[in-house]
Amino acid sequence: MDSNPTSIHFFTSKDALPDALVGERIAVIGYGNLGRPFALNLRDSGVSQIIVGNIADDYATQASNEGFRVMSIGEAIASSDIALILLPDEVIPESFPTDIAPNLQSGSAIVFASGYTLAYDLIQPPAGVDVLMLAPRMAGENARQRFLNNEGFFAYISVEQEASSKAWKRLLGLAQSTGILRAGALEMSALQEADIDLFIEQSMGAVLGMAMLTAFTVGVDSGLPPEAMVMEMYMDGEMEMVFRSFRDIGFFKASSVHGPTALYGGYVRIMELMQTDMYERFTNIMEHIHSGGFASDFQSERQAGYPNLTTAMEMDQGEHPISQAEAKMREMIRG
Ligand code: NDP
Repeated sequence: MDSNPTSIHFFTSKDALPDALVGERIAVIGYGNLGRPFALNLRDSGVSQIIVGNIADDYATQASNEGFRVMSIGEAIASSDIALILLPDEVIPESFPTDIAPNLQSGSAIVFASGYTLAYDLIQPPAGVDVLMLAPRMAGENARQRFLNNEGFFAYISVEQEASSKAWKRLLGLAQSTGILRAGALEMSALQEADIDLFIEQSMGAVLGMAMLTAFTVGVDSGLPPEAMVMEMYMDGEMEMVFRSFRDIGFFKASSVHGPTALYGGYVRIMELMQTDMYERFTNIMEHIHSGGFASDFQSERQAGYPNLTTAMEMDQGEHPISQAEAKMREMIRG
């Protein structure tokens, strides 16, 4: 892997030119979780020439009802100067060679909201177009809400290929008009973005998820009420405050607000857990992600009809004891 960069660039609103998108026809391809918020944010920022490209379905109807001109994906790409490809990451490799690449005009730009397909060579953008990444660190719905509240949200951005000599101008114009630069954007390559996104989900996220399920089971097996377990783990909001204090005060300094018992207990247990092979396991996960192994597995999963994803989604139909405890707790809270 590349060594750590010595400096990292952080962009804010002052880096975008006010006229960056003037005269640019923008296609939002996919009016889904992120496509809709981005299209609405761009329009509310004064970008006037927006087309939505979508397959003929409920999303297309919604875009039309919300005042956008809707076309097929291919037509929208062909009619645009900048196309934001906001399709699911595992769909882009199928759509790219048929609907997207053949319709790109020379000097136009394609923008991805995640580095995934570029990072692991799932698509090959043609020469002659700008290839940009604008990857928010925020779910689409929150990106819209924060925009409406006049707040920003963070993103990773990069120019992966420059053909027009205005790639950065376009990218920063989009970052500004979607609302990102009100908070700020870090420059990260598509490969770095994809690696970090997958790695944190699959290391820290997986351990947190496993820790919560295990703590719940051990707590209940030891006689503690399941309702109190979900209250303690997340329903009382205390853990959210812990994460908030990492952000506001600092990861280590935050312990000062949680008291000596929490600090002592956390310290000795971390020392015990450090004896396990977690570092080695995380390193293996990172290597599998970085080499494209995970992306290749996920494409095979799609081709096989998502057997593992279906199992994961079916794990809870409201029957798991943790879901039942949550439901009871919510009922009691509502009174
Ligand atoms: P969605 O699952 O919401 O789908 C987006 C659009 O793709 C929908 O209009 C959907 O229509 C369409 N679509 C799905 N399958 C196909 C297909 N086979 N052919 C053509 N169109 C299809 O995607 P997201 O908005 O979640 O993700 C879009 C991009 O944004 C991804 O790169 C993702 O990584 C990135 N991103 C997403 C965030 C989020 O909040 N979701 C946050 C940050 C980045 P339909 O379902 O009707 O087919």
